[in-house]
Amino acid sequence: MTSSSRKDWDTYFMDIAFMVSTRSRCPRRHVGSVLVQGKKLLGTAYNGAPMGVPDCSEAGCMIVEEFEPAVPSDSAGGMKKKQRCIRTIHAEQNLLMFTDRVDREGSVVYVTDQPCWTCANMLANSGIVEIVFHRIYPKDHDKVAALMKQKGIGFRRIDDYVAPPDTEVQDGA
Ligand SMILES: [Zn+2]
Ligand SMILES: [Zn+2]
Repeated sequence: MTSSSRKDWDTYFMDIAFMVSTRSRCPRRHVGSVLVQGKKLLGTAYNGAPMGVPDCSEAGCMIVEEFEPAVPSDSAGGMKKKQRCIRTIHAEQNLLMFTDRVDREGSVVYVTDQPCWTCANMLANSGIVEIVFHRIYPKDHDKVAALMKQKGIGFRRIDDYVAPPDTEVQDGA
């Protein structure tokens, strides 16, 4: 491999997050996240049901319907119905449960999808200093971006990125 084709660290760790996401058994969305300190991988996690209980592939997704603004941050622009699976613990939350506080201090989280508000709120209190994501999640963008700014946590999208083949599953709706 020549130096020009060698993967940069962002691509390298995001590729790992996408590989990890393929472990997810929720057919609606596969999310993967990894904890990185310096250039060292300290943990991996994906979205899934608690251990020992049936997951989405066995028991089906647990769907809730919510209404949200059709245009994020514009509630005057009309509302649309959105379905969500709530069976799984989100990848970021599993990552926090399976890593140590001391490892998280000063570390970076790479995650396939922009964190939702709850995950972002937890990450903000976890000791990490940066969140790097690829797929956008507009619904919670404004409040999450504001929180990260308040906390001084880096919040960065890699947009110029192509996930490894056959690692992308999301409902797209
Ligand atoms: Zn599901
Ligand atoms: Zn989340």
